[in-house]
Amino acid sequence: MSGMLIIGAGLAGLTVAETLRSEGYAGPITLIGDEAHAPYQRPPLSKGFLLGQTAEAQLMMRPPELLVKKDIDLRVGAGATAIDRSTKRVALGDGSTLGYDGLALCPGSRLRPLPLAGADWHGVYGLRTLDEAKAIAAALEAAHNVVIIGGGFIGLEVASVARRKEKRVTVLEAADRLMARVVAPLISQFYLDLHTRHGAEVVLGAMVSELVGSGGRITAVRTRDGREFPADLVLVGIGIIPNVELAQAAGLEVNGGIVVDACGRCSDPTIVAAGDCTARRLDDGSLRRLESVQNALEQGRSAAAALLGRDRPFHAAPWFWSDQYDVKLQMLGLTAGFDQVVTRGDPTTQKFSAYYYQAGKLIAIDSLNQPPEHMNGRKLFEKGISPTPAQAADTAFDLGSLLA
Ligand SMILES: Cc1cc2nc3c(=O)[nH]c(=O)nc-3n(C[C@H](O)[C@H](O)[C@H](O)COP(=O)(O)OP(=O)(O)OC[C@H]3O[C@@H](n4cnc5c(N)ncnc54)[C@H](O)[C@@H]3O)c2cc1C
Repeated sequence: MSGMLIIGAGLAGLTVAETLRSEGYAGPITLIGDEAHAPYQRPPLSKGFLLGQTAEAQLMMRPPELLVKKDIDLRVGAGATAIDRSTKRVALGDGSTLGYDGLALCPGSRLRPLPLAGADWHGVYGLRTLDEAKAIAAALEAAHNVVIIGGGFIGLEVASVARRKEKRVTVLEAADRLMARVVAPLISQFYLDLHTRHGAEVVLGAMVSELVGSGGRITAVRTRDGREFPADLVLVGIGIIPNVELAQAAGLEVNGGIVVDACGRCSDPTIVAAGDCTARRLDDGSLRRLESVQNALEQGRSAAAALLGRDRPFHAAPWFWSDQYDVKLQMLGLTAGFDQVVTRGDPTTQKFSAYYYQAGKLIAIDSLNQPPEHMNGRKLFEKGISPTPAQAADTAFDLGSLLA
């Protein structure tokens, strides 16, 4: 018996492994990771860890002895390089091969590279892994001028950490507002004001055209309009690319991600996939790719059940969070296609929510510093209840009463 093989020792991979055990699977489970570390949490890398408030040991998802106790064979340091579906064997970077009865693909994603000369110079960083976070944390101590390329979540979280460390910070965002892909203009404006108030310079419509350096070290970033921003630390946060190559080479369907159904099954239903690497086919045939802790967790559970021949479809509304300065943003649902936004609470208090509607139906909620509002929203979504825009905007109206 070869047992279950899981490629990728991140949150999705670990969740598949642990769920297999909790669902009663008693055979061998092998978890393969190409990083040198046991599974660790990524969200704190751009938050508490960079700030120095979260220690490396606190990032680890499980103590090693717990994996031993669960009889999960964790092998780190050599990634999978090829899958042979006909013989059910996987080749690893160290030259060995492993057989499998069931296979889960959880290789996550990697950073989208900046297509400019100098992107590999000293002082230019991306943030995806613990090793990268350690390097940035060390460089940040000595840095004076921090330039962030990309005004998305990770860029803005690093900007807020750098400002809290009293560095000069410039955020260069190509779009005409921050986090434009996922939030309404009023939330973008709130974050522009927040960063500006904390002393960061945010430049919108900034097309980075050149990295300027000397002796292999970054000294400035130039934009297309000829402006030059001095920099001794540059953080590139321009998105990620799902790791699909192994699946593609093995002949599995890939379309912007490894295509899976609601239960995490790939086009070969004996193989499952979960996490950042997937593109999930929805009931209407469209594909959805999410990059979040919730997706890795939920899909990991579904994928493990599917390996055991059980259906556990994952339909929950997406959620996500971001911490910048003293503001916690919690997002629920997806904003794409909204035609109306109402606010609940006073934006000037840093404590309010935005309710997004499409044709009168609630499709998403962004809550700022309002965890109870977010939790209530999750219950509304679970039950398919849509308060009217007038109810959502009226703070005197108890939205929880709709759940009764
Ligand atoms: C800095 C940062 C902050 C974030 N903040 C938030 C947040 O606030 N909220 C939120 O919801 N999400 C956040 N995310 C996103 C979240 O961390 C990811 O969505 C989640 O980690 C996805 O889990 P995963 O297991 O699919 O992928 P990963 O965590 O990427 O794990 C995949 C693992 O597989 C390894 N691997 C790849 N190829 C192979 C191979 N061939 N063989 C073996 N191993 C391989 C990778 O190196 C990696 O270790 C953040 C991410 C980052 C980087």
